[in-house]
Order: sequence, then C-alpha cells, then structure tokens
Amino acid sequence: MRKNIVAGNWKMNKDHSEGARLTEEILGGLKERDVSCEVILFPAFTTLPSVIDAVKGSDLSVGAQNLYSEGEGAFTGEISAGMLKNLGCKYVLIGHSERRHIFGEDSAFLSKKLRIALDNGILPLFCVGELLEQREAGKAGEVVEKQLRDVLNGLDGDEMSSVTIAYEPVWAIGTGKTATASDAANMHLLIRGVIENIFGSKISQRIVIVYGGSVNPANAAELLSAPDIDGALVGGAALIADSFLEIIYASGR
Ligand code: PEP
Repeated sequence: MRKNIVAGNWKMNKDHSEGARLTEEILGGLKERDVSCEVILFPAFTTLPSVIDAVKGSDLSVGAQNLYSEGEGAFTGEISAGMLKNLGCKYVLIGHSERRHIFGEDSAFLSKKLRIALDNGILPLFCVGELLEQREAGKAGEVVEKQLRDVLNGLDGDEMSSVTIAYEPVWAIGTGKTATASDAANMHLLIRGVIENIFGSKISQRIVIVYGGSVNPANAAELLSAPDIDGALVGGAALIADSFLEIIYASGR
C-alpha cells in the first residue's frame, strides 16, 4: 500500500524564526496523535536552516520550494541542488503553477530541474495542473498528460520511482475553490494511467499522487478518502499549525 504524503508549501511566508515556531507547533500536534502519513514542510530558502534544525530527531521531512537547473557557476541569485542536499533537504517542488505561470518555467526547463534534483539525491515533488479555461474547454486531461509526458519521458523506471506527483488545478490554488473529490480522483486515475503507459503498472502503482488546491480542514477528509488520492499539497492552510494538523489527521494512511 502506498503511504500518504501531506505537504505544506509555505510559499513566500514565514521568516526563519516564524518558521521554527510553526514547526515546533506542528511537532507538538504530531506527538498527540498516531500519524502514519509522511509530513513534509516546504519553507522559503532562508527559513530552511531553522526548520531543518527544528525537525532533527523527528519524522518530519523538509523540502525546498525551488532549485536551479545547473550544478554551480555564474547564476546570480540561484540555489543549487547540491546546496539543498548538503543543508538537509529531502524533497524539492518542481513545476508548481506559480513557477510555471508567474516565472514562465516551461517543460524543457522543468526537465533539467528534475534531472539535477535526481542526480543529487533529492526527491522531486512534480506538480501538474490545468488552467480554468483549459478545464472549461474540456482539455484538462490532455494538458496534464502533456505536462507529464514532456518531463517524465526522460526518466528511467528507477528515477521515476523517486518522483511524487502533485495534481494541482491552477484555478483551485489559493482561490478557495477546490476540485470535487470525484473530479480530482478522475484526474489522479488519468495520471496513474499515463505513468503506467510509460513505466509499466508495477511502478505506476507505487507512485504517490497528492492533490493540491485550497485543501483545508473542512474538505480534507472527503478529498483524502477518494480513490487514488494519496495525500495533499497544502498552501494557505499549512501556515496555521492547527489547520495543517487537522489535514494531517484527516489523512488515513
Ligand atoms: C499550493 O501552493 O500548492 C496550494 C495548493 O495552495 P493553496 O492550498 O493555498 O491553494
């Protein structure tokens, strides 16, 4: 059985001391309940060291929200996979819709990022999702399939086994709108089918596919109990310990 993942993407929120405090609060809540899913925190770069320090000795995992596609060199302002690995990052977000749509990151660039993450032993959480107009035009499946194939086609089966997928419909991120559990589950099924088509069913059954897009304590239980939804990537609701903990508690496995 696949384990669930519940991840908090803090985006450009929480400085190093606020991040350490939030982490302590989350750790406090996790001690009170038996939690079987993996919990990952994605703080901003400057908050990473204090969060990594705070999670030492616990089961909490930490990831970076971004990385650069090259190993080192004259890339002012960028952060490399090696730097993140040496700091203690286990995961990295790649392909988040804010990177795709605000910063114009395309599949060719995302493929390079995925490659350098894997080459440095960092586990990618690769995000895909359609725009509202694409969904309304009946093209959601086609868009998501292309986003997957463009980037995952370059991997071998072992590499794919290190990747987690997040389905995040762009229209649901930070908007308070969520996909219905059945729409999300259908897309997760499609995603698993694409992975099966490229890598075979053994690998596709192992891949964790989480849902993201305005997940909150009120809708988490329904979304997380849907077939093929293996957890959640949470933005806004991950900034408050109690609401993030409620979502974690709602994750059955
Ligand atoms: C996200 O940033 O990945 C996200 C899903 O945000 P929110 O939960 O705020 O919609």
